[in-house]
Amino acid sequence: MSSTTMVAEAVWKNIESNHSVTDDQLGVLHFLFGKNFERATRIVDQQGVKRISGEPSGRSIFQVVGESRKKEEYLCFAEHYCGCYSFFYDIVNRGEQLCCKHQLAARLAASLGACIEVKVSDEELAMLLSKL
Ligand SMILES: [Zn+2]
Repeated sequence: MSSTTMVAEAVWKNIESNHSVTDDQLGVLHFLFGKNFERATRIVDQQGVKRISGEPSGRSIFQVVGESRKKEEYLCFAEHYCGCYSFFYDIVNRGEQLCCKHQLAARLAASLGACIEVKVSDEELAMLLSKL
């Protein structure tokens, strides 16, 4: 794990345990993630993050709305996957960023308890995952 990732993890853990975010933490996240973090906060403000949980397993995936006018939604795991173009182009191919704005939005919303919770059956969740 890179030191940047470790710093980010420590900040996320803190936000998770307090369910709120301080100005200092916002400053650190902004420093680490730049414009992507600003975009992520806008997505969270618009309630653009859904957590889809399968019953009875409790496994979950995030569905995050994009910022384009088309309002596409991306399936995403906060820590290691997003279905968007930026994830493949900037992160997987070029290794330039730690994660995309959707992953940041998912992480932020989950830490703050600001996700829209959606329950589905495990079969429906499996159908969603099969489209990844
Ligand atoms: Zn993404």
